[in-house]
Amino acid sequence: MDAATGKKRFGTGRRALVTGGAGFLGTHLCQRLLRDGWQVTAVDNLATGSMDNVAALRDQPGYRFMRHDVTEPLNVAAERIFNLACCASPVHYQEDPIKTMRTCLDGAANLLDLARANNATIFQASTSEVYGEPEVHPQHESYRGAVSTTGPRACYDEGKRCAETLFFDYHRLHGTRIKVGRIFNTYGPRMQASDGRVVSNLIVQALRNEPMTLNGDGSQTRSFCYVDDLVEAMVRIMDTPDDFTGPVNLGNPSEITVAELAEIIIRLTGTRSKIVHRKMPVDDPTRRCPDISLARSAMDWQPVVPLEEGLQQTIAWFDRCLSESELATRE
Ligand code: NAD
Repeated sequence: MDAATGKKRFGTGRRALVTGGAGFLGTHLCQRLLRDGWQVTAVDNLATGSMDNVAALRDQPGYRFMRHDVTEPLNVAAERIFNLACCASPVHYQEDPIKTMRTCLDGAANLLDLARANNATIFQASTSEVYGEPEVHPQHESYRGAVSTTGPRACYDEGKRCAETLFFDYHRLHGTRIKVGRIFNTYGPRMQASDGRVVSNLIVQALRNEPMTLNGDGSQTRSFCYVDDLVEAMVRIMDTPDDFTGPVNLGNPSEITVAELAEIIIRLTGTRSKIVHRKMPVDDPTRRCPDISLARSAMDWQPVVPLEEGLQQTIAWFDRCLSESELATRE
């Protein structure tokens, strides 16, 4: 605290900027950077991010929060920029698809301009969705993807692809130091209960003893990475040599079907829920699994948290949140 003003001091150490800093991954990343001694500015328009996430960090020295939309230019001093701003779950990014595309594009351009002005290194949270409905398996970074340009998911998939293009153009034209990570399904505490992602959906339904919904017959595969592993990857990629730009796959290569995931959650929660099936959403990929040999060799990184251990942490967190919110509605 500053004795004169009574306000929290924002120090003068190494500065990092995290856009999307009030979201699921952004909050975990801010927490880690603060622990590593960084002064962290979290920027978020709170589209899906929450003030609860901000409140959890607000009192930590070196943290500050700015409510700002990345489609507008911003001026923040930082030597490392992590661009995570973009709603990540289909229910949210399809609510306002034009905004999603603009967040991907205008957001990337504004942050790249800021990186140039600060001579900063900038990380782009890209996604496995750039591979679309993949024809090769597992997906290697050299695979160019099979993505619909016109479907309901295109605002996100194509937005993220264009953002990658912008990153590489800034790198070629202006020498901007870029790091592009293609993130595969990541889960953990602080995911939103209502955003329709498969892990949070199934856990919440199981804890409430409600029917657990699987898209299609549940034979589609995913590979789930625990959030601590992913945060470690985002931190490590920034320490790679300047000529390492990516794109690099960041995810867990152990692939399971969604039906198998549901069975594990049923066992870990001891729920009375039964599984029900519903129609597959349009353009929902049937297989998804990263080839992470590049991340292994260039960043010396691979996930270390076993699925059951990560699920137990996530279940415990949702259990606490649900009991608190159910208590609150009774008060
Ligand atoms: P999230 O929805 O929890 O977080 C995204 C954050 O961005 C939210 O806090 C939201 O309010 C903010 N945001 C959205 N539009 C914005 C705008 N115009 N200006 C400022 N802030 C804005 O999602 P997440 O899971 O934390 O994902 C973070 C990033 O990682 C996203 O870019 C997402 O595309 C990418 N990603 C995540 C996953 C995953 O499995 N979680 C997988 C692939 C890629």
